[in-house]
Amino acid sequence: MDAAEFRKRGKEMVDYVADYLEKIEKRQVFPDVEPGYLRPLVADSAPQDPESFEDVFKDIEKIIMPGVTHWHSPYFFAYFPSASSFPALLADMLCGGIGCVGFSWAASPACTELETVMLDWLGKMVNLPKEFLAEKDGQGGGVIQGSASEATLIALLAARTKIIRQVQSEKPELTEAEIMGTLVAYASDQFCATLGTTSCCSFDKLLELGPLCNKENIWMHIDAAYAGSAFICPEFRHLLNGVEFADSFNFNPHKWLLVNFDCSAMWVKKRSDLIGAFKLEPLYLQHHHQESGLVTDYRHWQIPLGRRFRSLKLWFVLRMYGVRGLQEHIRKHIRLSHQFEHLVLQDERFEICAEVVLGLVCFRLKGSNELNEALLKSINDAKKIHLVPCHLREKFVLRFAVCSRTVESTHIKFAWQHISQLATDLLKTWEHNHHQQ
Ligand SMILES: *Cc1c(COP(=O)(O)O)cnc(C)c1O
Repeated sequence: MDAAEFRKRGKEMVDYVADYLEKIEKRQVFPDVEPGYLRPLVADSAPQDPESFEDVFKDIEKIIMPGVTHWHSPYFFAYFPSASSFPALLADMLCGGIGCVGFSWAASPACTELETVMLDWLGKMVNLPKEFLAEKDGQGGGVIQGSASEATLIALLAARTKIIRQVQSEKPELTEAEIMGTLVAYASDQFCATLGTTSCCSFDKLLELGPLCNKENIWMHIDAAYAGSAFICPEFRHLLNGVEFADSFNFNPHKWLLVNFDCSAMWVKKRSDLIGAFKLEPLYLQHHHQESGLVTDYRHWQIPLGRRFRSLKLWFVLRMYGVRGLQEHIRKHIRLSHQFEHLVLQDERFEICAEVVLGLVCFRLKGSNELNEALLKSINDAKKIHLVPCHLREKFVLRFAVCSRTVESTHIKFAWQHISQLATDLLKTWEHNHHQQ
């Protein structure tokens, strides 16, 4: 493919994606395929001779789409949202076009510098304490990780290195291995300090945990993967109070801030803690600006060496939506989750299982876990909407997460009517079977 054909095909591909997203609600949200469906549809090995774009293109609808779960369908209410917007898609295209690998400042200065500034922008949007910002001469700063899980692992490794060095400076006779054997990580059954847990979007009390961690010299990492985006709205910012006690903080713009996967934002108060843990300087990665101390080499802030130009997505989205546009998106989702909550509350057969704070509603039929498992199965078998469950204490609970950028009140009403009808059908046969037993 040469540049002339790329121009033509690129336009066709943009049209295809625009059509796909514009008409996504006509597609069944969850696919009909069984495991192993794809292998018989493709060749056993890669073609020896090149195929045409048309050959590949026509297989998208034939082979790929039948096996796609449509995460951006307004009937998708599973997991948590996966962000998507047109500005982010365009930025990803540019990222692919530039195709740099920004592991050091010199490897592509714009890639590093835009990321530092975008993380400052984002940090200010959620009103992070100044210590977390890089600005011109700060000690802190932000970095884009691939996922919240990576950010948590990095915080853990940095905390470990930091405390080992501290202990070694006091007791030089101890080896690293000896110290390591005495370290303790404290966590609940949801892991670290969390704002918006995955199962039911509950919030740890940072104002209790934070001072304790500071007093005991414990590194506090806060995971706000989903909920973090909501803190751009002043009315939800109080949920982040106590972040001033933390050493590191993370949330995923790729969940709820219209920046396509992957873009997980992580901040630290002392970037020297991260760099200290991961620094590696083989000769081929050194460059002459290093001595100045002004440059950031993001490879020291992460597990991999290579990294994409992901800050472009943030730049496009933050500029083209503006803070106000993003606040509207968050507020709309939260309004819709409360709409669903009210519909559930009006039906005496159902109960709400956790306070609805943001865009997630946990609910169930009053009754046994088996009954609720059967309800979820009938919902997901019908494939008109898609939900996933969770366990809250011993209870099997259905999670209704407002996800799609284009979801509206009518989709919420439809989803509820559908669930309510399936519950009616289920309860008929369920009671019948119960009487027979
Ligand atoms: C979604 C989620 C994660 C996992 O996010 P990844 O970026 O996929 O690793 C971690 N913690 C919480 C609270 C989440 O909601």
